[in-house]
Amino acid sequence: DEYSRKALSSKKERTLGIIKPDVCDKFSQILEAIYDRGFKVTKMKMCQLSRSEAGQFYQEHQAKSFYNGLIQFMSSGPVIAFELIGEGAILNWRALIGPTDSATARSEAPASLRARFGTDNTRNACHGSDSEQSATREIEFFFPSKGVKRRSTATFTDCTLCV
Ligand code: UDP
Repeated sequence: DEYSRKALSSKKERTLGIIKPDVCDKFSQILEAIYDRGFKVTKMKMCQLSRSEAGQFYQEHQAKSFYNGLIQFMSSGPVIAFELIGEGAILNWRALIGPTDSATARSEAPASLRARFGTDNTRNACHGSDSEQSATREIEFFFPSKGVKRRSTATFTDCTLCV
């Protein structure tokens, strides 16, 4: 109901966002949309995931038919990963990126980032954590906290964009 929605959206949260490989050149427009919506960007890095790192990140989708294509795509070039903080950040960032399929986004949420910058169901511009639990795991994946034994085996290739 209205009350619990308000309560939910006024809770300060953190979430993990990714600009996917084929739209890193849309970085400034995506960042502008993020700041316009009032998020704080508290961590950010550009890196290239290996296939196994991409597989680890998307481990929950292992059994899905689109898994191999997704992993191939996500390791095809540099990504930009960031932590966002804001009230109701998890849902609000998901709302800003829009529905998974870029075509659906264009018909149902034309102002969303996937509508503006996505291509299809796989190449859909941005990632956003879907729950508090995913956000915690995914933030730790890209930004492992010091002094904590790393669960992630990701090493990341720091990159300057290859041209
Ligand atoms: N994906 C895909 N085919 C599909 C569904 C998803 O390639 O039929 C990809 C797409 O890049 C998506 C990611 O897998 O962003 C994770 O899927 P999920 O269902 O979690 O969608 P999201 O939470 O990213 O909207």
